[in-house]
Amino acid sequence: MDAKTIIDQTEKYYLPVFGRYQLALTHGKGCKLYDADGNEYLDFLAGIAVNSLGHAHPALVKAISEQAAKLMHCSNIYYTDIQAKAVKEIIETTGFDRVFLANSGAEANEGAIKLARKYGHQKNEGKYRIITAVHSFHGRTMMTVTATGQPKYQQGYEPLPAGFDYVPYGDLEALREAMDEDVCCVLLEPIQGEGGVHVPSDTYLREARLLCDKYDALLVFDEIQTGVARTGKWFAYMHSGVKPDIMTFAKGIGGGFPVGGFVVTERLAHVFKPGDHGGTFGGNALACAAIYATLTTIKNENIVEQTAEKGAYFKKKLEFLMAKYPDKVIEIRGCGLILGMELAKDGKEVVEACLKRQVIVNCTAGNVIRLVPPLIVTKEEIDQAVAALDAALAEF
Ligand SMILES: *Cc1c(COP(=O)(O)O)cnc(C)c1O
Repeated sequence: MDAKTIIDQTEKYYLPVFGRYQLALTHGKGCKLYDADGNEYLDFLAGIAVNSLGHAHPALVKAISEQAAKLMHCSNIYYTDIQAKAVKEIIETTGFDRVFLANSGAEANEGAIKLARKYGHQKNEGKYRIITAVHSFHGRTMMTVTATGQPKYQQGYEPLPAGFDYVPYGDLEALREAMDEDVCCVLLEPIQGEGGVHVPSDTYLREARLLCDKYDALLVFDEIQTGVARTGKWFAYMHSGVKPDIMTFAKGIGGGFPVGGFVVTERLAHVFKPGDHGGTFGGNALACAAIYATLTTIKNENIVEQTAEKGAYFKKKLEFLMAKYPDKVIEIRGCGLILGMELAKDGKEVVEACLKRQVIVNCTAGNVIRLVPPLIVTKEEIDQAVAALDAALAEF
């Protein structure tokens, strides 16, 4: 199919919920993507921090193909070897004790919130309040869209689930005021992704931990975007050393295969009793093959360390751009390969100017160019993307 046919046919049948670019992609290799007309693009979005190993990584392709030929799915009422291998790998890389597997980020957070509610109810009936941050993003199900501290995602879906309160991100005083014995959990992204790549202080996260301890509330980190080496550590919480009680993950952990889940510390291992939570597909054999291949490849190829190093290189280059265009670039934020370039105005033009130069970047929160390339990106590819951004900013 040519690009026009692909686009027209999709527009005819798919619900119009996405604002899509006029780009019909057919395949990818490493950090490159190719469209139906044969054009090549440099991918600095990685499917929104999903394709951690880039496109068509041989180890991931092999793992998924071999598993598909063996066993794709059987119910979670049985055991599989690949699930046993995947969960051990998750526990070793996250530093937690127990895991639950689902199929998406929203489902991961949904499960984490349910566990926190159950935990609260076991203490007393009134302990159900959930505190989240303004400008957070936690997903699109009713529960997670309510957790998301952005009214634009909630409007029209009322009545929303009760018991959610929102505090400005990074504002310790506001969090202190919101806390009391009724809170069952505080749900935070250790770096806000969708909200514009906002990095809080270590003090904020440390104090959030202390407040949760004080009120016997669970601290939940949503690491769906920041997890799996993205920030230059296995998980973002490892920068501050503030360990949550529950951590959710999704996006990058399947390398492109849809998976999500959450890990908990041993003290929460038995909050859910058999039958309390579940799912048909979560942790199925194919998904576990993707998780296992992604995590072991990251480990074997030292991708965590390289992400930290390449991220620092990239950030420095972006800071040069900020110095070159002081009226246009306000701030560079982030660490590892989740970087944000805040612009003085709406960033749509910059995204389009980069696309014209065959570099795919994304704009979030209106004026923040979010750079989340595959973790296997090379310095040459970073230079290429920076050159495109440079040209785009010159026109901006
Ligand atoms: C993407 C994202 C989600 C939602 O994940 P889905 O797989 O789209 O449901 C939740 N939280 C954060 C921080 C995210 O970046």
